[in-house]
Amino acid sequence: MEYLFEPVKENVYVLAIWDSNWNSYNNCYFIVQEDGITLIDSSKEAHSECLVQALKQLGKSPEDVKFVLATHGHEDHVQGTAIFKNAKKYIHHKERSLIEYPEPDEFNYDLLDQGVIQNFEYFWVGHHTPGSLTFYHQPSRVLFTGDFLCFFGDPLSKDGLVSAGNDLRHEWLEFLRNGGVSKDELNDFLKGLKTMNVFDVDVMCTGHGGVLVGDIKSFVSELLNVGNKLQEIQVEN
Ligand SMILES: [Zn+2]
Ligand SMILES: [Zn+2]
Repeated sequence: MEYLFEPVKENVYVLAIWDSNWNSYNNCYFIVQEDGITLIDSSKEAHSECLVQALKQLGKSPEDVKFVLATHGHEDHVQGTAIFKNAKKYIHHKERSLIEYPEPDEFNYDLLDQGVIQNFEYFWVGHHTPGSLTFYHQPSRVLFTGDFLCFFGDPLSKDGLVSAGNDLRHEWLEFLRNGGVSKDELNDFLKGLKTMNVFDVDVMCTGHGGVLVGDIKSFVSELLNVGNKLQEIQVEN
């Protein structure tokens, strides 16, 4: 199975697993902390072996994963959690009905629309699924957006998986400009971006493909500008 495993920042790693069925990278993130490893998202059941291999590269095993935070309940973000028997697993309560495997009862549904868990601040972004969350890791200033903002099915940046990704940023802006976020969802999408831009972000870790480094605020501001203009046009019509 093909995957990339790279450092994002000190103690933060990305595992990008190539999903040949979906023609996309599915991303998982390992945050190595004093009290164990926190995993954000976990890809599909069929990719569990990649998670084990990545842990091995860190000198760790599945037993070392103590917390799992899922950005949302789609199979490519929750199924891989089944192998982490020692971990507490968290997801927003509105995602429960999306989970078929592992058993929905393996998850804890205490996360609210915003709050703090461990050293992560999290907030609800009403876009993609009813209970999609974005996590901000305070010590490393890394933001985990899940599929709220991701590069599903896109090639990696020519500068690599973890990079400024200017080509990817440009494409996302074009995608938005050309109606990639539907009219019905645009308002919630913009609200999510506004909340995101409150944080001081060094790296944006997405649910699929590219991990963007540096000047995240100006990227999010550009997205907001494009989105706000689209909204004005909608109101005029
Ligand atoms: Zn999804
Ligand atoms: Zn996904």
